[in-house]
Amino acid sequence: MTLPPGSERHPVDPSGAPAGAAGAPGSAAARVLRRVFGYESFRSGQREIIEHVVDGGDALVLMPTGGGKSLCYQIPALVRPGTGVVVSPLIALMQDQVDALRALGVRAGFLNSTQDLDERRAVESAFLAGELDLLYLAPERLRVEATLRLLDRGSISLFAIDEAHCVAQWGHDFRPDYLMLSMLHERWPSVPRVALTATATPETHKEIAARLGLADAYHHVANFDRPNIQYRIAPKKEPKAQLLHLLRTEHPGDAGIVYCLSRASVEKIAEFLAGQGIPALPYHAGLDNRVRAENQARFLREDGIVMVATIAFGMGIDKPDVRFVAHLDLPKSVEGYYQETGRAGRDGLRSTAWLAYGLQDVVQQRRLIDASPGDAAHRRRLGTHLDAMLALCETVECRRVGLLAYFGQHGAAACGNCDTCLEPPQSWDGTVAAQKLLSAVLRLDRERHQRFGAGHVIDILLGRSTPKVTQHRHETLSVFGVGEDLRELEWRGVVRQLLAQGLLAVQGEHGTLALTEASADVLRGTRTVALRREPERVARSSARSGGDATGGAGRARRAAPVDLPAQAVPVFEKLRAWRGATAKEQGVPAYVIFHDATLREIATRMPTSLADLATISGVGENKLAKYGEQLLDVLAGSTGTPEPD
Ligand code: ADP
Ligand code: ZN
Repeated sequence: MTLPPGSERHPVDPSGAPAGAAGAPGSAAARVLRRVFGYESFRSGQREIIEHVVDGGDALVLMPTGGGKSLCYQIPALVRPGTGVVVSPLIALMQDQVDALRALGVRAGFLNSTQDLDERRAVESAFLAGELDLLYLAPERLRVEATLRLLDRGSISLFAIDEAHCVAQWGHDFRPDYLMLSMLHERWPSVPRVALTATATPETHKEIAARLGLADAYHHVANFDRPNIQYRIAPKKEPKAQLLHLLRTEHPGDAGIVYCLSRASVEKIAEFLAGQGIPALPYHAGLDNRVRAENQARFLREDGIVMVATIAFGMGIDKPDVRFVAHLDLPKSVEGYYQETGRAGRDGLRSTAWLAYGLQDVVQQRRLIDASPGDAAHRRRLGTHLDAMLALCETVECRRVGLLAYFGQHGAAACGNCDTCLEPPQSWDGTVAAQKLLSAVLRLDRERHQRFGAGHVIDILLGRSTPKVTQHRHETLSVFGVGEDLRELEWRGVVRQLLAQGLLAVQGEHGTLALTEASADVLRGTRTVALRREPERVARSSARSGGDATGGAGRARRAAPVDLPAQAVPVFEKLRAWRGATAKEQGVPAYVIFHDATLREIATRMPTSLADLATISGVGENKLAKYGEQLLDVLAGSTGTPEPD
């Protein structure tokens, strides 16, 4: 938590201000924040981290997506002498990251396999000449001796290790090349390192610290809440129709991501949405590289694209205005789910995380785990991850409270901005229903040669004489028809929840239901079973309607910037059109020019001079010089008295 012994202190401010106190209002760091980035104040945690790294200390930063991690190494790199070297696995995004920095007037470059020799040489000589503030590298570059020698010959201000959870084998994004990053400290012991990640169970945290030798670094674990994201988990009925409804009623024209488990379903859903007039593109590892890169670029550059993707998509996508993330299949872990949903709403504006989940998902995921390669310990670990995800799906408590507890943040209050807070599901005593179901499974289990899935068991409980029931003479079972008090959908819910609670298991290819050790307690009557009853209506966001269905949602509303006042809407649209044209001209994503949040503030405050404009968050020195006059022109065109006719 302190400065590692023996680490060097560097002078921090080329202008001659004393070192240290980096976050103080007049400090070099605070000046860079205002001048380069156009921001008034640090966000929670940034000041301390930046101060520590500017002073030459190591840091391990765990902050949710959108928390503001990049500034934690970009500002120290600008304040300290030398080049900040950023290790990042996101080759496909380096160009955009560098473009965004250059738009701010920061001297940035990258080295990766997509460049030709000339481009590489140019970056290398800029680095050696001390003309780069930031240099982005893929981890595999550091395996190459020539790269290490190059770094030896230049002057390095710090190492930033982005997506640091890639070093953790426990997690879901493990990359072997990350393991050797521990050598950075051995080779350049006096260069401070800052490792950053947005995924952070206590296990992952520990593993990063151990593997990167950061146990003694300054650790910052941020509040992991993302109050502007509304979490909703809905029972899966007709997933395509449910998705379409969500997009049409709550997110028309918005950019978003739809995650599917398989490549085939990605293709199918993308085609379906496109057929419905929604600009949807597919993304998965099986697509041609060129198509993939093109779809990603369109998602980043155009407004309102819906990306239908496997989880191969998304890491490092820093598009700030992703308004929704929808999951059509159950994620394998809470960590993955939080990482994926976290890609919504980086700009702090209201966003939706929506997951449709059904019985089939549980059966499928359990089967995938059974069939997965690796040893028993590995499968057990996968099982633990899945169980936590299922518990989140089936909870009758606030989703956010559950999520935060998973990341070690216990005791949060109900959020008022998730489906269970907005429309509380009831919990009901499902002990008798569970007993009926389990006895049916027990009876069927006695017929050793036959294996029966959930559908057949439910048919028996409902007393349906289907051909299969008749064929096996299952009308004669004592449990035949004992479940007529519940509807089929409700029985599917019971099966799903018993699976989630480990009171029932699935086996084999056909998803045969089987008892577990814990089932016996329920059958014996020594254990009761609480189940979740879905609210009749699926919770719907109040974001667009402005209605107050949120009850105690004051917190959610405070966290998200206010919606635009009516008179600002046309101005905002004009600014957006200007931004779109400018971005296109320069071949960069629109948010590289200005974020939505900045345009909103401009539209609301209507600055009339460059000095006014400079006080708006996100308008730094470089952008003011470049776009200030143009913005004032756009605004002037929006305020003139309307001409008669
Ligand atoms: P992360 O890498 O943690 O996901 P980013 O570094 O991309 O987050 O920051 C998220 C957004 O917040 C960006 O648009 C960034 O410019 C903005 N931001 C970061 N720090 C500040 C600050 N101190 N004031 C205002 N905006 C900030
Ligand atoms: Zn809640």
